[in-house]
Amino acid sequence: MQPKIAIIGAGIAGLSAALACAKLGFQTDIYEQSASLTEVGAGLQLSPNATRLLDELGVLQHLGNQWYEPDALSLVSGKDMQTLCNIPIGPQARERWGAPYVVVHRADLLGALTEAVRREAICRLHLGKIIATTAQNELTQQLTAISGNAPDLIVAADGVWSRTRQMQQNASAATFSGSIAWRALLHHKDFPALEAPGNVTLFLGPDTHLVTYPLGQRGMMNAVAVTPGGAASRNWDNSGDSDILAGHFRHWNPRITSVLAATSWRCWPLFEVRKNAWQRASKTLLIGDAAHAMTPHAAQGAAMAIEDACTLAACLKRSNGEISPAIDAFVSLREPRINKIRKRGDFNKFAYQTRGPIRMARDLVLSLRSPGRLAADMDWIYKYRLDKP
Ligand SMILES: Cc1cc2nc3c(=O)[nH]c(=O)nc-3n(C[C@H](O)[C@H](O)[C@H](O)COP(=O)(O)OP(=O)(O)OC[C@H]3O[C@@H](n4cnc5c(N)ncnc54)[C@H](O)[C@@H]3O)c2cc1C
Repeated sequence: MQPKIAIIGAGIAGLSAALACAKLGFQTDIYEQSASLTEVGAGLQLSPNATRLLDELGVLQHLGNQWYEPDALSLVSGKDMQTLCNIPIGPQARERWGAPYVVVHRADLLGALTEAVRREAICRLHLGKIIATTAQNELTQQLTAISGNAPDLIVAADGVWSRTRQMQQNASAATFSGSIAWRALLHHKDFPALEAPGNVTLFLGPDTHLVTYPLGQRGMMNAVAVTPGGAASRNWDNSGDSDILAGHFRHWNPRITSVLAATSWRCWPLFEVRKNAWQRASKTLLIGDAAHAMTPHAAQGAAMAIEDACTLAACLKRSNGEISPAIDAFVSLREPRINKIRKRGDFNKFAYQTRGPIRMARDLVLSLRSPGRLAADMDWIYKYRLDKP
């Protein structure tokens, strides 16, 4: 069977799903509310489990020189600037996990995905189409009216605020995680405290942490701080009050606080969908943030969206295009993986932002572990393969 597939949302999940289905020869119609595919920008870390799949989709090479392979993941104390550990991820990532660990601007990744989708004649992109109805049959009608194609499968990849998810009875709601993400683009010459600007560096402190990594043009750094806060807005891009940010970092090392004060920040509240919401009806499947938006503490949100997309295509291939068995197989593969990744994110946040005796124990454990053992701890995330999950 050659199913016709409707995909709602042209984000990382939706575009990856369209490409993965096109590789099987399955036709997709992608419906996107925005009239043009521009993205509020931030950096993304793409670990080897994601870059391996992007390579198979033919997207990695189109990112060309827009990505950067950091040398190491470093954990540094935000108070005394002591390096707690370094996990090598440059050439070692390719060697250990079989694919590169890269950092890239979100807009560049979306651009490369869009270009790849546009090259596939069986992927049809419908921009400026807001898909919003209250019943399954109306949803199918709306999609068919736009494209002229009645879908056999509807894939809802419409993000954390998914309207498709909200149509579900007892739908899992997106809930505020209690944290705010603050983002700025810095020049690393303005951040002399950064000893290894080619690394992904996590500065750790009580209740708050800061992540920096190189991005885009030479010398620029993506900085994301995560602090406690309130959910004043659901927007991805709000202007941030530097005084509030400075308050969260007041006990940090002045080599960091001086940089924070001199920078202008954008911020957004971190919402998550903690109870996975895969299915609305036998014909509809949710993927990516629509199904399981998570906090960024395991740096796996985009990677999980890409894994979902490729797993769906693999399940459709195994079921010869039959929808129900493909959906069942998909959910049984993705449910445990997503739950385990979410737990790792929760654990990371606890470990990054802890204080007192637990902080001391954390620092001791990190300093005693070899880089090889720390890298081995990431194997289950980064070595993951769809054929050997
Ligand atoms: C601070 C921060 C840092 C992050 N860092 C990382 C990281 O390092 N690594 C990582 O892997 N992930 C990271 N993530 C997570 C990652 O960005 C997301 O998980 C990922 O982009 C999810 O993609 P998606 O396609 O599911 O959703 P989205 O990107 O939200 O796409 C949804 C699409 O659907 C469209 N849409 C919505 N509603 C409708 C509608 N009704 N009709 C039509 N179209 C609609 C939207 O316009 C959008 O284009 C981070 C997230 C944050 C907040």
